[in-house]
Amino acid sequence: MKYIFKKDINLGLIFIVLFVITLVGGFIKWIWLIFSGIFLISYIFLDKKRLRCPSCGGYENLDRLMYAQNHIFHCRHCGKKIEIR
Ligand SMILES: [Zn+2]
Repeated sequence: MKYIFKKDINLGLIFIVLFVITLVGGFIKWIWLIFSGIFLISYIFLDKKRLRCPSCGGYENLDRLMYAQNHIFHCRHCGKKIEIR
């Protein structure tokens, strides 16, 4: 894969938001912690599969990928330009 897709970044964000909400909910009702775990695993899975540098597979956090949507962005690991579509 040559690109990182915007929809994957957005999906990652949604997972993080849902994770935080259900984690907080878990303090009130433990059952929410199960959902919280599911969202966290979903995010990790998405991150490993889709949110890595297409050239070297290096990890980039969501903040930097958000920034990369509107700016020219080079991978910290291999220095290659990361294209976001
Ligand atoms: Zn790279």
